[in-house]
Amino acid sequence: MKIICIGRNYADHAKELGNTIPTEPMFFCKPDSAILPKGNPFFIPEWSDDIHYEVEVVFKINRVGKYIQPEHALKYISEIGLGIDFTARDVQEELKKKGHPWEKAKGFDGSAVIGEKWISLENVNPDNLSFGLKKNGEWVQKGNTKDMIFTIQSIVAHVSQFMTLKIGDLIYSGTPQGVGKIEPGDHLEGILNENAIFSLYIK
Ligand code: ZN
Repeated sequence: MKIICIGRNYADHAKELGNTIPTEPMFFCKPDSAILPKGNPFFIPEWSDDIHYEVEVVFKINRVGKYIQPEHALKYISEIGLGIDFTARDVQEELKKKGHPWEKAKGFDGSAVIGEKWISLENVNPDNLSFGLKKNGEWVQKGNTKDMIFTIQSIVAHVSQFMTLKIGDLIYSGTPQGVGKIEPGDHLEGILNENAIFSLYIK
């Protein structure tokens, strides 16, 4: 399986990092080894001083598809979850300056947190999902998928022009504003449509 992540999909987050707003979905991949095993804490790697959380709604693909039309996109998704796209911001800034790929900053072990709870697509409107992240009991990120620059339908259509989507693939759909640094001892909690989806300790 592969993990596809959408960058700069919320205007307020693109602005907080000084990035321009893209005119088509911008995506990158994490390897499957990036998934943090269930129940494990996240260990801050020794090679970064600035690991940021990015809470994101995650869409799980349940059918193989290529060149999917936007109006059929939801037939390829069964469940919606919530995760974190951990990012080594200091490493990413260096890579961006050099024009190099982001994998070191985005695809490292444990960088893809995925909650254990999934919500069936049948029960919700994917274009109007509220979600957020609490750090040590306080809200640090709050978003709603209605504010995504590119809807999940247009993301599926765009990405599947280039990469065949396969069963079990995950799409991280971008993060709203409020990203920030984690420290050892922090506790992160992800909420999707008022359901607690994950709880994670930082070491
Ligand atoms: Zn992200």
